[in-house]
Amino acid sequence: MIDKKHLDYLTSIVGIENIKSDKAHLIAFCYDATRTRFEPDAVVFPRHEQDVSDILKYCNEHQIIIVPRGAGSGFTGGALPANGGIILSLERHMNKLLEIDMENMVGVVQPGLINMQFQKAVEEVGLFYPPDPASEEYSTLGGNVSENAGGMRAAKYGITKDYVMALRAVLPNGDIIVAGKKTIKDVAGYNTAG
Ligand SMILES: Cc1cc2nc3c(=O)[nH]c(=O)nc-3n(C[C@H](O)[C@H](O)[C@H](O)COP(=O)(O)OP(=O)(O)OC[C@H]3O[C@@H](n4cnc5c(N)ncnc54)[C@H](O)[C@@H]3O)c2cc1C
Repeated sequence: MIDKKHLDYLTSIVGIENIKSDKAHLIAFCYDATRTRFEPDAVVFPRHEQDVSDILKYCNEHQIIIVPRGAGSGFTGGALPANGGIILSLERHMNKLLEIDMENMVGVVQPGLINMQFQKAVEEVGLFYPPDPASEEYSTLGGNVSENAGGMRAAKYGITKDYVMALRAVLPNGDIIVAGKKTIKDVAGYNTAG
């Protein structure tokens, strides 16, 4: 169990409405498609990247386990808090399509955006996002990236990793890094987005 002082600090980051530790939430976030159940100690809904950074920095310093979660449709158990800790749920707030860059034919998204919502949005402007896991109507792009999801169109068009041009990511110590760019060729050394 996480100490109340830790919950209080996390509450000071995200606000009282964005942290839950009541039984109903712990049950709702204790499973994924494996149907295995592990209850977390709390569920936190970051509002933006800085919240994620602040949460990870604090949890890293205090050795509190963090488990990121999209829609919980994964079959790998990756979203399960097998050893307790905090569920970091990206679906409530960090679910926006930020930009469609027509010149580079690139979409800029937050990780909690649903795959199908993204597909529909780019198709409306004449673009095409091929990765189509059978969970496309509810799985998130963050979960798709993490699981490298792909569906029936994979044989012809590839899978999620073939469509990730760049990432902003928060490291366990809270540092925010950027890897890759909107262009296919952008490095002279290690390609950290590749
Ligand atoms: C009915 C059904 C059909 C499916 N069909 C397919 C299919 O055709 N092809 C396929 O590849 N998969 C399929 N899946 C599996 C699953 O949908 C995919 O793996 C999907 O990509 C998971 O997305 P999610 O948002 O549910 O992620 P979650 O299950 O919530 O999380 C999956 C993993 O990603 C991590 N994660 C999530 N968001 C982030 C983030 N923002 N930052 C860092 N880590 C993160 C989690 O910690 C976890 O390890 C299917 C699942 C179901 C239930």
